[in-house]
Amino acid sequence: HIQSSHPTFQAAKVSAWSAPDKSKLVQEVLHLVNDQRRNPYSKVLRTGSATRGMVADAYNDEEQEAIIWTTNLYLGLNRDEEVIREATKAVQEFGTGMGTSAAASGMTDHHLQFEKEFAELTGKPSACLFPTGYTANVGAVAGILGKNDVVIIDQLCHASIVDGARLCGATIRSFQHNNAADLEAILKSEASPYRTMMVVLEGVYSMGEGAAPVAEIVHTAKKYDALVLVDEAHSFGFYGDRGAGICAAQGITEKVDFIMTTLSKALGSLGGVVAASQEHVDLMKSSSRAYIFQASISPADMAAALTSLRRLRSDDNLRQRLWDTTRYMRQQFTEAGYDLGTGDGPIVTPHFSNKDKLYAIVQSMYKRGIQTSAVTYPIVESGRGRLRLICSAAHTKEDVDKTLAALIEAEREVDELLAAIPAGTE
Ligand code: PMP
Repeated sequence: HIQSSHPTFQAAKVSAWSAPDKSKLVQEVLHLVNDQRRNPYSKVLRTGSATRGMVADAYNDEEQEAIIWTTNLYLGLNRDEEVIREATKAVQEFGTGMGTSAAASGMTDHHLQFEKEFAELTGKPSACLFPTGYTANVGAVAGILGKNDVVIIDQLCHASIVDGARLCGATIRSFQHNNAADLEAILKSEASPYRTMMVVLEGVYSMGEGAAPVAEIVHTAKKYDALVLVDEAHSFGFYGDRGAGICAAQGITEKVDFIMTTLSKALGSLGGVVAASQEHVDLMKSSSRAYIFQASISPADMAAALTSLRRLRSDDNLRQRLWDTTRYMRQQFTEAGYDLGTGDGPIVTPHFSNKDKLYAIVQSMYKRGIQTSAVTYPIVESGRGRLRLICSAAHTKEDVDKTLAALIEAEREVDELLAAIPAGTE
C-alpha cells in the first residue's frame, strides 16, 4: 500500500479489490497504481523534457537527473529554438487559450494555415484539426459512420479508434494484426450495398514493430469499396519524403481516404489532424461532435505545430539523426544479446520472459538515472514483458551507451536478487 502522504497520491488510495466489477485490465492498472515501485503516475518532470531532465518520484520526493526514453517526441522539436520562439510570440499576440470551438471563432490564421499545409504535405485536398490525436480518431470515425455501417479495425489499433466506433454505434469487427487474408474474409462477409464499411489501421504500431503492410491492407479494402483510415501517429514526420508518412512511403496516398496523425509526437505540440477529400472534411466539420463541441487548439500549441510542420518539410537533418541513433541503438542492444523482435523503428523493445523481473529492472535503471517503461499484459502475453525505449533525434549515441550499460548492470543486480530467494518462495 502507499506509504507516502504526498497529496498527489491521496486520491489514488483505491484498493484493487474495491472495484470487483471492473475488467481484468482495470484491476491490473489499479494494482500498479497501488504499488509504490510500479505506479506509472508517480514520476514528475521538474525541469527538462524529451530526452533528459530532473525527474522526481512523488512518493519519496527525491529528484534525480535522468536520460528519458518514455516520450514520443521523435524529432525533439519541442525543444527547437524557433518552435519555442513562435509559440511564445503566439501567446503574446493571442493569450493562452482560444476559449471556444472552431465554429464559434476559435480559429487563428495558424489553425487554417496548418490544415492547408498538412493537407498539401500528405497529398490530400483538405484537412480538419481536432484538439488532440485521441479526439481526431473519435471524431473521424464517429463523424463519418452511422449505426448501420461497419468498421473493421486491426486488433492492435489505438483505443481512440475503438471509442469512435463505439460512439457512432456502427458494427465493430477486428482483423488479425497486419493480416490481409483475415481482413478479406471479414470484408466478404460484411459487404452490402446498403452500408458503408471503413477499415482502420496504423502505419506503424507503437510496440516496437516496423512499418505495417499498409499497401496490402489498403488494396484488400478497396476490392470491397471500403473507406480506409490510416493512423500515422508513430510514422508521420520521419517516414516518407519530407516526413509525409507511411502512406507516402508506400505510394498509397491516393487510395487512403483519411490520413490521421497527432500533433503531440513528431510535431512536439498538442492536437490531432485528419486529411481527406473536401467532401469528407466538410462532413467531419458538420457531424463530428468532437469537432463541433470542443475548444480548439491553443494559440501557442498551434504556432508550435505549424513551425514544426514547416521544419520537417524543409529539413532532413532531424530525420537523419533520428534514424542514425535508432540504427546504432538496435545494433548495440542486439550485439549485447537482447532480443528486439522484428522491428526496425525508433521504438526499441528488448523482450523479457518474466514481467516481475522486468519491473525490477525498470526500477533499478531509474536509480541509475535512466527513465524507461515496461510494457506488459494486455499488450503482450500475460507474464511476459518488453522494456520500451523511444528513441528521438535529441538522443545521442552516448545516451545509448549509458543506457545499455545501465540495463546490463540492472539485469545483473536483479538476477542476483532473484537467485538469493530460496526455491518455492514467492
Ligand atoms: N493514435 C495512436 C496510434 C497513438 O499512439 C496515440 C497516442 N498515444 C493517439 C492516437 C492519441 O494521440 P494524442 O495522445 O495526441 O491524443
